[in-house]
Amino acid sequence: MNGKKICPVCKKETDAKIVDVCTTAYKYVMDKIKEEHPEWVEKDGACPKCVECYKKL
Ligand SMILES: [Zn+2]
Repeated sequence: MNGKKICPVCKKETDAKIVDVCTTAYKYVMDKIKEEHPEWVEKDGACPKCVECYKKL
């Protein structure tokens, strides 16, 4: 199914493509997400909002 996806980090539906955090340079973002979501893995990705949010932390 294309289109709607549930972000594994915030559990919200997102129109935008789930960001493949694994392929980005945001290692520190990944580390921060993992601090709060230990079960999360990079390949699950995150929505752009989450990535932006964690980038600001
Ligand atoms: Zn999210």
